[in-house]
Amino acid sequence: MQDRTKGDGTGRDGTKRDRPDRSEAGSASRRLLLDVMLGKLARYLRMCGYDAAYALDHGVEADEALLALARDEGRRLVTRDRQLAERAPGGVRIDVRAVDDQLRELRAAGFELSLADDPARCGRCNGPVDPVEAGEPVPDYAPDPADTPCHRCRDCGQVFWKGSHWDDVRETLAGL
Ligand SMILES: [Zn+2]
Repeated sequence: MQDRTKGDGTGRDGTKRDRPDRSEAGSASRRLLLDVMLGKLARYLRMCGYDAAYALDHGVEADEALLALARDEGRRLVTRDRQLAERAPGGVRIDVRAVDDQLRELRAAGFELSLADDPARCGRCNGPVDPVEAGEPVPDYAPDPADTPCHRCRDCGQVFWKGSHWDDVRETLAGL
């Protein structure tokens, strides 16, 4: 395992040893909460290595509940609701409907959008993922991990690899 806690400037005491989850290492701005209607954007952001929680996955929809969740979990709120974005510290307003336009808006707002070398978050549920060892059983839909590097979500069990969907996302990001 690589130790990503080295050299990123975080204090020794502040390092969360119990959550060896790369995307959280000293990078609070990579923790986001996506409002309803932004579920597709959340999946892209997860593939870019963001810890992108989605409101509906947490069963929250009301403004106060969203603000509380963002505050409690130290997440920046990304929303299409202007007033809500203004109320949330560091809130980000998304103005447009199409996901590639939304990605453009985020990039313009300073978000780094490129595919992570290795998946860090599950695109489906935002759970942390681990590499699958060669020889470990995988579901029928997945390739043999001995031939193709695969990752498995700790939370929902979904197995991922860099297949055609990965290429599609890379193309979308390159074309922004
Ligand atoms: Zn998952």
